[in-house]
Amino acid sequence: MLDVNHLRDDFPILSRQIHGKPLVYLDNGASAQKPQVVIDAVTQAYSYEYANVHRGLHYLSNLATDKYEAVRGKVARFLNATHEGDIVFTSGTTEAINLISYAWAAPRFAAGDEIILSIMEHHANIVPWHFLRDRLGVVLKWVECDPNGDLDPSVVLAAITSRTKLIAVTQMSNVLGTVVDVAAICQGAKAKGVPVLVDGSQAAVHMSVDVAAMGCDFYAITGHKLYGPSGSGAIYIHPDRMVEMRPFLGGGDMIDQVTRDMVTYNKSPMKFEAGTPSIVAQIGLGVALDYMMKIGMENIAAHERLLRDKAIEKLSELNFLTVQGTSPSKGAIFSFTLAGAAHAHDISTILDQKGIAVRAGSHCAMPLMQHLGITASCRASFAMYNTFDEVDALVNGLMLCNDILS
Ligand code: PLP
Repeated sequence: MLDVNHLRDDFPILSRQIHGKPLVYLDNGASAQKPQVVIDAVTQAYSYEYANVHRGLHYLSNLATDKYEAVRGKVARFLNATHEGDIVFTSGTTEAINLISYAWAAPRFAAGDEIILSIMEHHANIVPWHFLRDRLGVVLKWVECDPNGDLDPSVVLAAITSRTKLIAVTQMSNVLGTVVDVAAICQGAKAKGVPVLVDGSQAAVHMSVDVAAMGCDFYAITGHKLYGPSGSGAIYIHPDRMVEMRPFLGGGDMIDQVTRDMVTYNKSPMKFEAGTPSIVAQIGLGVALDYMMKIGMENIAAHERLLRDKAIEKLSELNFLTVQGTSPSKGAIFSFTLAGAAHAHDISTILDQKGIAVRAGSHCAMPLMQHLGITASCRASFAMYNTFDEVDALVNGLMLCNDILS
C-alpha cells in the first residue's frame, strides 16, 4: 500500500496554497508534478555536470553522455523492451508519433492505404496521420467506442482490410479514462500482418507496461506526465520496424559520414535523434522512472484504483453532473459536464478559486468530443499523490459550482 502522505512530501509544489487554499492538483492528465529527486537531478546536471553529449572527449561531455545514455536502459526496463537500442528518445509523444509518420509510414504508404484510428485519440495521434492523408492520399478509418466509452478490440480488428497498413490507438483515453485492451488488438493485428502503434502517454503513468508481452510495434511515452521534465520522452520501436525506418530529421549526431555529395547515417537508434537533444530533461526522466519503479507500478495502480472507486461513488451522487465514460476498465480520469448551460471554463474557474486545478476544454480530442456531442468538458485526472480527501474537495467544489451556475 502507498503511504500517500509520506509520498506527498516528495513533491514540494503540493504543499503550496493557491488563492489561500491548499492546492488540490487534479490536472495530472495534462502534466504531472515533479518529485524533489527529479528537481535535484536537473539542478545537479545544470550546476555541475553539464556539457553536450556524444561529441566531446572531455570529462564533462563523457559524464553527461553516460548519464544521458543510461536513461535508454531505464526506459527499456520501464517498458520491458528487450534491448535499450529499441528506444528512441523524443521530446514527448507528439514528436514520437510524428517521427513514425515521417520516418516509417511516409516512405512505405501509398494512396488508398488505410490507417485505423480510434475515435478516442489525442490530436497527437491524429494530426500526423492527417498530414499523410493530405500528402499521400492515405485513408483514415475511424473506429468508435461504445456508449460506456469502451473500445472493443474485435471492432478494431474487424476494420482491417487488405489495404490496412497501421493501427494507431491509445492505451488509455485522456478524456474518458478508458483503458483499451491493446494486447488483444496487437495479437489480432499481428495475425493479419498489420503493425500497431500504441500511444502510451496516459497509460504508462498508471500501470505497468510490458511491450514484449503486448506485442506492439511502437509504444510512445511522454516524460512530463511521468513526473519527469517537459521536453523528455521516448518511443519503443520493434527492431523489425526500426530497420524499415528512414531518417527524417537531418543534422548532427544522426550521421556517420557527410561529404559534399553524400551522407551515411549513424546506427539506430541515434540515426533518428538529430541535433543536440534534451539532455538534462532526459536525465530527469531517468530519475523519474527510477522513482516510479521504486514505488512500484502495482502499488501506484492499486492506490489509483481506490481513488477511482471513491470518485465514481461520490460523483455519481451529484445528480447535476454527467460523467463521460463509464467503462469498467476506466482509470482515475473523470471528464464531466454540469446540467444546464454551465461552461467548462466557468466550472474550472470556480474550482480554481478553491485551490482545485482541473482542465477545461476539448482536451486535444476534438473528434471524441464530436462523437460525445459536446464541445467542452471539465476533467479531473488523478495521480499517485492524490488523496481521498481531495476527492471530497472536488465533490464539494462541484456542489458550489452547481449552486453558483444553476
Ligand atoms: N496522447 C495522449 C493520450 C495525451 O494525453 C497527450 C498529452 O496530453 C499526448 C498524446 C501528447 O503528449 P505531448 O504533448 O507530451 O507530446
